[in-house]
Amino acid sequence: MTNSSIITLDEKSLQNNVAFLKKKMGSKVQISAVVKANAYGHGIEQIVPLFEKHGITHYSVFSYSEAIRVYNVLSERHPIMIMGWISDKDMADVIKKGIGFFVFNNERLEVAISNAKKLKLKANIHLEAETGMNRSGLNTEELNTAISIIKLNAEFIHVEGFCTHLAGAESISNHPRIVRQLKKYQKMFSILKANDITPTYRHVANSAASFVYPKARMDLVRIGIMLYGFWSSIEVFIQYFNNKQDRMDPLRRILSWNSQIMSIQEIKMGEFVSYGISYLAQTDIKTAIIPIGYSQGYSRSLSNRGLVLIHGQLCNVIGVVNMNMVIADITNLPDAEVGDEVVIIGKQDSLEIKVSAFSDISNQLNYEVLAHLSEKIKRVVKN
Ligand SMILES: *Cc1c(COP(=O)(O)O)cnc(C)c1O
Repeated sequence: MTNSSIITLDEKSLQNNVAFLKKKMGSKVQISAVVKANAYGHGIEQIVPLFEKHGITHYSVFSYSEAIRVYNVLSERHPIMIMGWISDKDMADVIKKGIGFFVFNNERLEVAISNAKKLKLKANIHLEAETGMNRSGLNTEELNTAISIIKLNAEFIHVEGFCTHLAGAESISNHPRIVRQLKKYQKMFSILKANDITPTYRHVANSAASFVYPKARMDLVRIGIMLYGFWSSIEVFIQYFNNKQDRMDPLRRILSWNSQIMSIQEIKMGEFVSYGISYLAQTDIKTAIIPIGYSQGYSRSLSNRGLVLIHGQLCNVIGVVNMNMVIADITNLPDAEVGDEVVIIGKQDSLEIKVSAFSDISNQLNYEVLAHLSEKIKRVVKN
């Protein structure tokens, strides 16, 4: 292996997840695949063509630069939607390429209109309503202002969507807050309707909301984490399995991350391993050096806590995680050799290290572990 580690994406698992989610959402609901944060660490350039091949026809990103990456790898002109950052200088290109984007304040609406006028084109906007998350979006007064601006500039604006984001649908403790948000959304939507503005897509749901609040599916769902094979939270997972006979997880994880043993050391009892004094050898031990570290996304919070798979066995990460190296205890693997495979995330023989295992021992979310996987790690697709 030329690379110090490699991420493998399993196409069959992706196909399985897309098919499951399409069936679950039904044919009337458009699925937008959320591919922000480098497709949750999976790699935009590798994942988007696979999603496209398996029937995903709508894509959501956070920023202009991600939108361009998606635009460049799609083979057909499917809709792309920017949910967050666009600098003013990039607005013209966004409109020229027909990319949709959230309008969460009227400054952005004005920038969109002035660019659309110059280009003699329509900007595809999604009006984002502030319904109670208190992050971004138009409040009722701002929505009314937006409506009058849109009416004056109807030739330059296409209202493609009316949307909001729910503040934590994956946790039952947020239920009252989510219900209030959905009510507020409907109330604000009626203002649009009263003004004869009919967006193509009403959309509010992420993965969790699409499952926990079926009414929130509306015309389009913005699905991220579940397409990659993860449940948003244990609560969403449990709720899905309530009232079901079959306890098989319908989702399959797509990503695995492998490296290899770079070097093997014999350490004497009483010696400290790695920086500082956090690991003291209690007996004579044998260690394997693995060429991945926090610069690749293996969190320092896994110091003395992480596990890797070598020869089908779980081995402890000992000492602190370095920038480019971790050390594993392989005292119980007498046959281990330099070059042997090390699984950091994924299966080896009958055992598996899940992303959730990382999160359990380090307090990171699945989302966070995935988003930290360095873009520099090579990604390959396994068919
Ligand atoms: C990230 C994001 C989503 C997707 O959330 P998942 O929990 O990964 O499904 C949906 N909508 C918005 C606005 C987002 O930022």
